[in-house]
Amino acid sequence: MKLTILGSGTSHGVPVVGCGCPVCQSENSKDKRMRASLFIEGNRGERTIIDTGPEFRLQAIRAGIKKLDGIFLTHAHADHVHGLDDVRPLSRETPLPVYGNSETINEMKERFSYIFRETQHGGGKPRIIPIAVSEPVVLGGLTFTPIPVKHGILDILGWKIEEDAADGVVYLTDTSEIPAASRKIIGKLAVLIIGALRIRPHETHFSFEQALNAALEIGAKQVYLTHICHDYLHGEIVEYCRNFMKEQGLRGIPAEPSYDGLEINL
Ligand SMILES: [Zn+2]
Ligand SMILES: [Zn+2]
Ligand SMILES: [Zn+2]
Repeated sequence: MKLTILGSGTSHGVPVVGCGCPVCQSENSKDKRMRASLFIEGNRGERTIIDTGPEFRLQAIRAGIKKLDGIFLTHAHADHVHGLDDVRPLSRETPLPVYGNSETINEMKERFSYIFRETQHGGGKPRIIPIAVSEPVVLGGLTFTPIPVKHGILDILGWKIEEDAADGVVYLTDTSEIPAASRKIIGKLAVLIIGALRIRPHETHFSFEQALNAALEIGAKQVYLTHICHDYLHGEIVEYCRNFMKEQGLRGIPAEPSYDGLEINL
């Protein structure tokens, strides 16, 4: 399995429109954070994506995405779904299943009502099959297990991705709490990709410290942070993670911020 971080930024993206801060002005490509999304390529040619944010088109071109077998949504906030219309060229041959929890799927049917409405023929619309799930979804050799988490008061999903007998990958963005029952579903992991907004606390997102503590509790061979805002440069967050884990002594696990274009081969 190969993972590509298509976007590692928070809802406004980095640089933020109109912002003159050092992070938004940085010329380091690792400080340019598009809206959060993950591309997953299975060993048998399966191609799937988690979330279709406003930059989906640019991200898909950059990553060379030529087909998709399914779209998995975490929740229906604008920064996670507003690029959905741009899957149109990839849904021409076969309609694309879009999986999410029932709240997200209902919201998508309202938000993108034109897709599901009978309109004139010849107009371009993506061909989408919305599917509300609470059980694992199997696509080829990949299994996607929904992981219910809290995003403030919202119930959203993280996703666990497993291939054959290998340890899984978990993608948890926009999380402020992982319920005990969900910790059990997570199990043994090779890679954890977890949302971590900034150092200061936030009502609906883990801070760096909360995300890294959650990662320690969950346990993974490698941890990557995502959904990062413009408070810190990539290099500063690398340093933060290193110091945090050093303080844990033997409990520490490798952790670093992800960045747009990062490829993880498992
Ligand atoms: Zn978000
Ligand atoms: Zn800024
Ligand atoms: Zn959100």
